Amino acid sequence: MAGTPELAHIRLGDRPLVVCDIDEVVLEFISPFQAYLRNRQFELLPRSFMLHGNIFSLLDGSEPDEAAMKAMQEDFFANQDKWQKPAVRAVETLRDLSGDADVVFLTAMPPRYQKVRRTLLDRLDLPYPMIATEEAKGPVVEALHQRRPLPVAFLDDIQRNLQSVRSHVPDCLLVSLMANADFRALAPAPTEGIVQAADWSEANKLIRNHFLGQVVQR
Ligand SMILES: [Mg+2]
Repeated sequence: MAGTPELAHIRLGDRPLVVCDIDEVVLEFISPFQAYLRNRQFELLPRSFMLHGNIFSLLDGSEPDEAAMKAMQEDFFANQDKWQKPAVRAVETLRDLSGDADVVFLTAMPPRYQKVRRTLLDRLDLPYPMIATEEAKGPVVEALHQRRPLPVAFLDDIQRNLQSVRSHVPDCLLVSLMANADFRALAPAPTEGIVQAADWSEANKLIRNHFLGQVVQR
C-alpha cells in the first residue's frame, strides 16, 4: 500500500550518512534474474536499458505478457535469497564506510518482501537498517537526513531515483552505480550533479572525498 515509509527503526548518529539502493547496487539483480529466467526457459538480453521488451521464451521466442512478467518478478523477489548475491566489493566497502558513517538501505522493492530480504542481508554480513518503499526516494532521504549539517551520499542505479534525491536534498552526493556491465553500458548518461562510479572502489573514493570536502568547508 502507498504511504510514507516507517523510519522509526532508524537511529542516526552525529556523523555522515550513506543511503544506498540495494538491487544492482549492493546485491546483483540482473545477473541472478537472468539465471532465474533461464531456469524457466526465458532469456533476458541487454538490448536496451529496461526489462520489458528484452525477455523472450527460449522455447518459441514469444514475449511474456504483462501478467506473466509480473508473476515472474514477484516470484523472483519472494525467492531472492536463493538467487541474489552481493555486488563485487559491496560488503567490504560498506563495512569500511560504516566505521565513519551511518549506512541505511533504501530499496524500491515491494515492502511485503522485507522479511526475506532482511534475512538475506543479515546472512551476507550487511546488517544496516533498511527501508522498503515504492514511493519516490527524494522525500524519504530528506525525512531521514533532516537537513543536518553533516555530509550525505546516495547511491542508486536508476537516474529517476538520483534526480528525486537531488531535488529534495541539494547537498547530497549522488553516485550512479550499477553492478551489471552489459546494462550499465546501455544506461542513459548521468544528468547534472550525478557522478558515475564504475564499481564500489570508485564509489568509496567519491564518498570519502565528499566527506572530507564537507568537513573542510565547515
Ligand atoms: Mg536498484
